[in-house]
Amino acid sequence: MAQRPVHKLVVEDKRRLTPNMLRIALSGASLGDFPEGCEGGYIKLVLPRAGAVDVAPLDPATADLGDWVRRSYTIRALDREHLRLTLDFVVQGHGGYASDWVGAAKEGDHVLVAGPGPVKAPALDADGFFLASDMAGLPSLSVQLERLPRDARGQAVVEVLEAGDEQALDGPSGVDITWIVNPDVMHSRLPEAVRARPWPSGRVSMWAACEFQSMKQLRSYFFEERKLDRADCYLSSYWKLNATDEQHKLAKRQEAQG
Ligand SMILES: Cc1cc2nc3c(=O)[nH]c(=O)nc-3n(C[C@H](O)[C@H](O)[C@H](O)COP(=O)(O)OP(=O)(O)OC[C@H]3O[C@@H](n4cnc5c(N)ncnc54)[C@H](O)[C@@H]3O)c2cc1C
Repeated sequence: MAQRPVHKLVVEDKRRLTPNMLRIALSGASLGDFPEGCEGGYIKLVLPRAGAVDVAPLDPATADLGDWVRRSYTIRALDREHLRLTLDFVVQGHGGYASDWVGAAKEGDHVLVAGPGPVKAPALDADGFFLASDMAGLPSLSVQLERLPRDARGQAVVEVLEAGDEQALDGPSGVDITWIVNPDVMHSRLPEAVRARPWPSGRVSMWAACEFQSMKQLRSYFFEERKLDRADCYLSSYWKLNATDEQHKLAKRQEAQG
């Protein structure tokens, strides 16, 4: 996403949404350039490799950001009137450039954000829907649920770290939401929970975002066992256990090649 414009935004608010999720609101005039309906798409935090750098004096249009790291986060909400971008971050406890930034961020801090990237939504003209995510995918799954037709039917399965991480989601009443509480991030129970849910009838549209290994298991379930049409599926690994995002991207590329 190197070509996308880089914006300099200010931390307007930071608060704990649930025990393992922090919500940060960013503001800035250039948010007015974000297109209508970009919620559920992603931005990239652009963070310096060399620890704490005050980005306030930087001009993102001319600064050399070639060596800076980029980390993807979902646009949970965009208030175009008040120029406010809302992002939700898993408190993942494993360190990393983004998680360190989130931990230290305070009101008034500046941060560079590239984007927005495209929205990857499920096909909306299906007979039934199946959505699945872990906590990293939850901000995006929340937006996808909000966008489903109000008479949609199907299943959504979300894995969270503790019961307090369950959120009130605004989905159609015909979509059953199953929360899986699993504090053991090393052993996801998302794939087995997805298999255990009833399968919607008719043509099914599927959307899933989660950890790399879980995603591989879901892919084999949806494609090989449920024989879903690939055009009706969006499956993405958002992170990889014991791997930085750079290592995760490399693993994705190697998988795609072979
Ligand atoms: C399109 C897209 C949208 C995303 N949206 C969101 C979002 O809205 N909210 C969100 O929280 N994340 C989201 N992610 C995931 C986020 O980009 C990764 O978690 C990212 O790796 C975090 O970067 P980091 O610098 O903190 O850690 P890294 O340097 O990438 O990794 C450091 C260590 O942390 C571990 N780690 C990374 N992420 C997690 C995690 N979620 N749980 C447990 N351990 C982890 C790694 O395995 C590694 O051991 C999204 C990813 C994509 C591709």
